[in-house]
Amino acid sequence: MSYNNYEMPPCVEDLVKSIYISMDITEPEELDTRCLMDMVSEYFHIRLHYFDEPSEANNLGGNFHIFLNEKQSPQKQWQDFGHELGHILGHEGCQWGIPPLFRHYQEGQAKQFALHFCVPSFLLEQMATIDMAVLMKLFKVEKNFALHRIEMYRNKFLQLL
Ligand SMILES: [Zn+2]
Repeated sequence: MSYNNYEMPPCVEDLVKSIYISMDITEPEELDTRCLMDMVSEYFHIRLHYFDEPSEANNLGGNFHIFLNEKQSPQKQWQDFGHELGHILGHEGCQWGIPPLFRHYQEGQAKQFALHFCVPSFLLEQMATIDMAVLMKLFKVEKNFALHRIEMYRNKFLQLL
């Protein structure tokens, strides 16, 4: 996938960790993602909405909003939340008027952020076994998302060799 070419700075992992610590989540037990989305939204003063259009983030009148497509699976909503949060934290949820190439770059960054946010490295580091089924169960993500995340996690260590 092309967005594997975008490498988030290492501080993204620290940012994600600090968010989870703020939510009092320090162990890779099964996440209540719906509850976590509410808590994270409150923490960042983001208004979370559910509707029947494709998920998006925006800034209306100085307030950040995340809109999630309620017709999707809980897994997809969770992944979309991570993606839209990445837009807000990375570039304030605004893509209007941005040249296509830069928008593409922002999309890559948001996708990378979602991978980190939905399946945090500091929780993976505590796990004895990391495989697709475990990730899907614990972190409530879809199969392809889990596979991408495992690949990304392995690459991180290969780069250190
Ligand atoms: Zn996006």
